[in-house]
Amino acid sequence: MNKIEHLGIAVKNLEASNELFHKLLGVAPYKTEEVASEGVRTSFFKTGESKIELLEATDKDSPIAKFLEKKGEGIHHIAFDVADIQQEVKRLQEEGFVVLNEKPKKGADNKWVVFLHPKSTNGVLIELCQEIEKAE
Ligand code: ZN
Repeated sequence: MNKIEHLGIAVKNLEASNELFHKLLGVAPYKTEEVASEGVRTSFFKTGESKIELLEATDKDSPIAKFLEKKGEGIHHIAFDVADIQQEVKRLQEEGFVVLNEKPKKGADNKWVVFLHPKSTNGVLIELCQEIEKAE
């Protein structure tokens, strides 16, 4: 695994939180994107080399809606940048981690993503992400 790619924060109201994080970080989000398949709307901030992702539910049955219901707003996941997501999935499965989606799916911000179940990672949802190659 390479660096931490971003931290994901679950929020109730993306517009309000965009303003809050704009004030906090001194920069506006560089993109806002809806991932319909996950029932989520996201925005991304860049601060130095790090990124923050805000996630708002667009559907009451989405994983983010359930997270907000159970735990309220707050840190939702840590995302690590990986060079070869499939190889990393294989390695982590061999180590006994519970992979939520073995087949990488298209996430926000032009990434292939795989999630590890928090029950195998001390209660923290882990996202692996790999940049999707532009020319395919
Ligand atoms: Zn993320």
